[in-house]
Amino acid sequence: TGRSSAGLIAAETPVLAHNYHPLPVVISRAEGAWVEDVEGRRYLDMLAGYSALNFGHRHPALIEAAHRQLDTLTLTSRAFHHDRLAQFAEGLADLTGLDMVLPMNTGAEAVESGIKLARKWAYEVKGVPADQATIVVAGGNFHGRTTTIVSFSDDEEARAGFGPYTPGFRTVPYNDLAALEAALDDTTAAVLIEPIQGEAGVIIPDDGYLAGVRAATTRAGCLFIADEIQSGLGRTGTTLAVEHEHVTPDVVLLGKALGGGIVPVSAVVAHREVMSVLGPGQHGSTFGGNPLAAAVGTAVIDLLATGEYQSRATELGKVLHTGLTDLLGHGVTAFRTRGLWAGIDIDPALGTGRAISERLMSEGILVKDTHGSTIRLAPPLTITEPDLTSALTSLRRALS
Ligand code: PLP
Repeated sequence: TGRSSAGLIAAETPVLAHNYHPLPVVISRAEGAWVEDVEGRRYLDMLAGYSALNFGHRHPALIEAAHRQLDTLTLTSRAFHHDRLAQFAEGLADLTGLDMVLPMNTGAEAVESGIKLARKWAYEVKGVPADQATIVVAGGNFHGRTTTIVSFSDDEEARAGFGPYTPGFRTVPYNDLAALEAALDDTTAAVLIEPIQGEAGVIIPDDGYLAGVRAATTRAGCLFIADEIQSGLGRTGTTLAVEHEHVTPDVVLLGKALGGGIVPVSAVVAHREVMSVLGPGQHGSTFGGNPLAAAVGTAVIDLLATGEYQSRATELGKVLHTGLTDLLGHGVTAFRTRGLWAGIDIDPALGTGRAISERLMSEGILVKDTHGSTIRLAPPLTITEPDLTSALTSLRRALS
């Protein structure tokens, strides 16, 4: 059983931290929307690395960009310049409608960096008294796993046991503009929200909420930081989810799909007046903006520039929406979609989200539960319509 799925899973148990509870599948290869396990069974990937695989597994253009870069230069650190960084930053500025880029690696690092940036901006530009800056966040948020980020999570599982917590955060209910406005004052450095809450179960705010956040932050003289790490880069049918309300935040956080499913790449993108508060020695990362990351990230930006993936998300999103509408009352109690992204509440009588995920796995479909009896569908934007339709048929079977 050495190389079997069961053998490999058993081999992990004594040597890997148990901070995940993966489905019992051991993947050894993948292409497009499909993965294959060590026994050669094929599965449709309907999670896509929590949207890190928006362009599918091993997209040819991204693999080619990575190969080309591997053959020339992979790492310099930021002690020196390298020849790939300017183009990457220009691309990100273009993509977001903002000016300057702070390259990092993981999503949580981008969030941490955004928090540091907002605090420094508050002291140097807004004039908040030293150590008094506050950042307003939303209930149900998920921004990552670092000590500071879990400090303002309201998910007890994510938070309990990791104190003492970083102060300086104020939580208001998501999708509640009045509560948000009431929380803003002279100490507010920023409002930090997800335009759509992914981990919470694809929670989509009411129309007007993001525009309202923009207006409220402008009025209050604080920054609007949009965490687009999961919602951004094509998933919702637009490059950024904030585009659905024609809103430009002051700071956009990107990650996941920015690395094309190949390398961890994240970024903070901001207005020049904001990013300019950072000087040498005040922030950094050995790997942030490395040549391989910049080459892959630039290739990702080039894919997005075609508009093809955003259109696919919109068009296939309609198929997804129709398919889920047909399942309402047949095991699905409610669902939310935006583009090719769905949060589906399953009738608890049919089992937990985990149980449904395991049933779907035996049907050859990989998904993951989020909270309780909610599952999320976020297939690669490259999935074909027949594959998507067949996943919906499998879901119907798993729920019957
Ligand atoms: N922000 C959002 C909105 C996310 O969904 C995630 C991950 O799921 C993160 C931040 C953290 O990203 P990472 O896991 O790369 O640290």
